[in-house]
Amino acid sequence: MEKQLIINNTKVIIKTGDITEENVDAIVNAANSSLMGGGGVDGAIHSKGGKQILEECKKIRETIYPEGLPTGKAVITTAGNLPSKYVIHTVGPICNGKWSKNLEKQLYSAFYNSLELAKRENLKSIAFPFVSAGAYRCPKEKVATTAKKAIIDFIKYENSLDEIRFVLFSEEDFNIFIKSFER
Ligand code: ADP
Repeated sequence: MEKQLIINNTKVIIKTGDITEENVDAIVNAANSSLMGGGGVDGAIHSKGGKQILEECKKIRETIYPEGLPTGKAVITTAGNLPSKYVIHTVGPICNGKWSKNLEKQLYSAFYNSLELAKRENLKSIAFPFVSAGAYRCPKEKVATTAKKAIIDFIKYENSLDEIRFVLFSEEDFNIFIKSFER
């Protein structure tokens, strides 16, 4: 399933699929702060992308983020064997079913900082998964609304990307996303 929107000359694509198969400049990883891999989309990216991604994540831990990547921040590595050029790793908040202003702010930052990093690296296309909507259990509707806010603000204030994709793993998640964009 796929839906295309145009917002201020930027193509926004909402689709079902496996993000590791996306052919874009950067796919975003819903990482954990250790950057050492994990389950869900993180596990899929590291296992299909190969060990080069983990090597670069280790370097990031040894240099700029020895304590781990803070929630809401983003870093970039190669994509190893994946079809995309880069992987942008971001850490969304852990909600455990709850929601608050602070969680919203952290999640907004995860989306916005990923987009800003793509801009800084002169990238033109980016694909996001449903950050924090899996193991981190943030309310899915809230995640979709927060993602929408972040991308619309980015497009409004510092438009630099040609294409922003959201790649949802299930039809149910796709429908939740579509609803938030129709509002
Ligand atoms: P988090 O820990 O941030 O919640 P998860 O990886 O557990 O991250 O889940 C985030 C979302 O990614 C979930 O909706 C999950 O279904 C989805 N997901 C898992 N694997 C993939 C994949 N290969 N491609 C796209 N989405 C995926």
